[in-house]
Amino acid sequence: MPEISPRLTGINEGGDDGWGVFYKARRMKADGIDVTELTIGEHDIRTDPAILDAMHAAARGGHTGYAMIPGVAALRQRVADRIRNRTGVATTQANVLITPGGQAGLFAAHVAACPPGRRALYIDPYYATYPGTLRAAGAQAVAIPTRSEDGFLPDPAAVDAAAAQGAASLLINSPNNPTGVVYPDTTLRALADICTDRDLWLISDEVYDTQVWQGTHLSPRALPGMADRTLVIGSMSKSHAMTGSRIGWIVGPEPAIAALIDLATTTTYGVPGFIQDAALFALDQGTAFEARIAEPFRRRRDAVLDVIARQQIVRAIPSSGAMYLMLDIRATGLSGQDFALHLLDSHRIAVMPGESFGRSAAGHLRVALTVADDRLVQAVETLCAFAAKAAISA
Ligand code: PMP
Repeated sequence: MPEISPRLTGINEGGDDGWGVFYKARRMKADGIDVTELTIGEHDIRTDPAILDAMHAAARGGHTGYAMIPGVAALRQRVADRIRNRTGVATTQANVLITPGGQAGLFAAHVAACPPGRRALYIDPYYATYPGTLRAAGAQAVAIPTRSEDGFLPDPAAVDAAAAQGAASLLINSPNNPTGVVYPDTTLRALADICTDRDLWLISDEVYDTQVWQGTHLSPRALPGMADRTLVIGSMSKSHAMTGSRIGWIVGPEPAIAALIDLATTTTYGVPGFIQDAALFALDQGTAFEARIAEPFRRRRDAVLDVIARQQIVRAIPSSGAMYLMLDIRATGLSGQDFALHLLDSHRIAVMPGESFGRSAAGHLRVALTVADDRLVQAVETLCAFAAKAAISA
């Protein structure tokens, strides 16, 4: 066999990076063991039947051929209107590319922003695909560590120091996976200033923008001068429980979107028309529909924080968005990975080790708020009791 290009073999750096816990939980489930899975960021509900009806009607109506590669005009317009209404920034169809999910958007945005081999900055802890995505796009992925004690917020001085060594882009994600942290305006302004001063693209992953529990979400594209250097990644996976439909978008300056259409022509060749019609229908259901999808996570987050407040060993990272909580378990003396493996073995509860999301989250756990309230509360009570025992024997 001829060589497989390093472009592909270099995507993953090897090692299980803490994902062993997840795979073990899946194997246990396949063997019929009842595992409480607080691992993956996927709703415990399925896509609303009304959206599926719209999808079915569109397919039956004949929208099964090649669709317009940048996205159908009505959906591009609807996304542009949505972004303009939410941010106040002038946005037209020409600023929107429809993509098969946020993940494809992340990849394409880095291809757009990063000439081959240039440094692409991202913040640790990070959504698990980030470093591989940046490398797949041909960039050199550079993680910028943060500290639990700072609520995992990026330190602008550290970002500036990394940018000073030369970089093409900075990727941020607020509301954040895995931490649930929503970046304050001051942080976003400082990061925007760095992008302007150092001439970087800002790639802003906003796929959790409908899941904000306190304060408001500021899209950095709305900051002065940033519309020309920001690529916003959007998705209907989280906002509309449409993870499997693979539908999202990139919003950015017109010339970047025009160039990205060339990339789409040579990669995805667009998104299925019936999925786009269903997405348009879903967006037309309005904000009350989106709030209904988000509500269980707010409720469960409050319930888990009540459990955490009743003990001293496990600390929750202060957060205000997304469908996760990050727990600091360093008082137990265990790594996130050891804690998660033991918890799975002894109590059949699966959580993600912080180490799965980068070095900065070592000694932490990410809990996805994706099971029914009672079961979640019981699992977190068990987790805390387990932590207390581990701390005594530490
Ligand atoms: N960004 C973040 C931060 C995510 O958590 C996810 C999915 N878990 C994505 C992007 C990609 O989502 P999708 O491709 O389903 O739109």
